[in-house]
Amino acid sequence: MSDLSCLVCKSDIEVEEKVTTGEIVECDSCGQEHEVQVESNLVTIALAPEIEETWGE
Ligand SMILES: [Zn+2]
Repeated sequence: MSDLSCLVCKSDIEVEEKVTTGEIVECDSCGQEHEVQVESNLVTIALAPEIEETWGE
C-alpha cells in the first residue's frame, strides 16, 4: 500500500502495490479521480483531467 491522500479533501487514498502509471483511482470521500504516476518505486497522484463526454456535435 502506498500512503497517498486526496488532493481535494485530503482523505487517504489506497492504491494497490502493483498500480501502474495512467491508472485512475477515485477518492472514496469526494469522488475526485486521480491519475497515478509511478516512477521507480515512487507512486504519486495527480488530478485526473475530466473527460467530457462530447460525443456527437
Ligand atoms: Zn477526496
